Amino acid sequence: MTLPADSHVHSEWSWDSGSDPSSPGRMARTCEQAVRIGLPALIFTEHLDFEDRWRVDDGDMGEHAEVLVDDDGYVRLPPFDLDGYLDAIDRCRSAYPALRILTGVEFGQPHLWDDRAAAIFNTGAIDRVNGSLHMLPLTGGDRTEPRTLYHYRTADEVMWEYLAEIPRMVAGSDSFDVFTHIDYAVRAWPTADIGPFDPRPFEDGFREGMRAIAASGRALEMNTRRLWSWIPQWWAEEGGRAVTFGSDAHVPEAIAANFPEATAMLESFGFRPGTRPEDFWTR
Ligand SMILES: [Zn+2]
Ligand SMILES: [Zn+2]
Repeated sequence: MTLPADSHVHSEWSWDSGSDPSSPGRMARTCEQAVRIGLPALIFTEHLDFEDRWRVDDGDMGEHAEVLVDDDGYVRLPPFDLDGYLDAIDRCRSAYPALRILTGVEFGQPHLWDDRAAAIFNTGAIDRVNGSLHMLPLTGGDRTEPRTLYHYRTADEVMWEYLAEIPRMVAGSDSFDVFTHIDYAVRAWPTADIGPFDPRPFEDGFREGMRAIAASGRALEMNTRRLWSWIPQWWAEEGGRAVTFGSDAHVPEAIAANFPEATAMLESFGFRPGTRPEDFWTR
């Protein structure tokens, strides 16, 4: 079978990989891995975040990213190095001519930051814009990730706030093509305290978010870290017509994870590939 493009991949140009000492050369090693496993195309969607600072508690950031937390418990990010990133893309395209390498970003909270991102998008250098909802309001103007929010609110409250923000993000931005990992708030779900996540109590919220995304003509990412059939099922039932496949890999070994199973699952819901590997699958 021909695999679709991995449409959500990070390299050393993402702040959460770049703080890892083993990150230099990761983009090239990821291309090498793609060639080795027969993946025809990759989109390097590096984090594009304009949050000046956000609150975290001890241990909320991954091991390497702890260096980005200041003494007051705020994360402060280095700006995205567009020129450095584009140079690295060029070098990889020369080194791996048989692999299709596309440019991209994973743009956090696009409904809040479209103005700031315009300078980057107006260059025309970015092929794909993944839109991600990573943060929600905490208190006093601070925003933070679900992982931290779960310390301050009930899990149900966090999940409902996350889902309610989806239509606002869709209506408030026209810069992104794909809504990523709609199950993002589930990643930090406090399973140890309240048991495994069950989507059914939140079904209306997921469906409402999906309806907003579908009505805007955007694609929904099938984030292959987890294969949950209710996501493509509800997406198709709510009028969703297009999907992408994204591993959300931050290391070369993780690209195209679960892709054979994910594509088989999407086929069963009527989605079919386009002409090029990076094209949306549609129904
Ligand atoms: Zn993300
Ligand atoms: Zn990502």
